[in-house]
Amino acid sequence: MELKELQKKIKKFSDLFNKLEKERDANVPNNIIFPYLKAVEELGEIGDLIVREFGIQRREKKIPNENFKNVLGQEIIDLMIPLFHLANGQAIDLEQEFIKNFEKIDKRWASNAY
Ligand SMILES: [Mg+2]
Repeated sequence: MELKELQKKIKKFSDLFNKLEKERDANVPNNIIFPYLKAVEELGEIGDLIVREFGIQRREKKIPNENFKNVLGQEIIDLMIPLFHLANGQAIDLEQEFIKNFEKIDKRWASNAY
């Protein structure tokens, strides 16, 4: 699936969510606050997964995870969805942003700035 297609797919959820939130409180910019908080929560879940997988915490808190790669993949998608939602709320074309960003990175590499 192309990035543009994925962003459009998530926009359907964004539109529905925004409609529901408008009915609740029109003064709060939920298309920014909600996806931001959700992204932070999902990033925390990735951190928790890594900490548990590599045992960087007290032994009694350690939970064996036989399926680290699959769960990590799902958590990365959980993180991407609110980020797409955040972009959709501001009408940001992520494909264009990717292109611009990679051009910048390519220039840095070409000029040996690293
Ligand atoms: Mg999650």
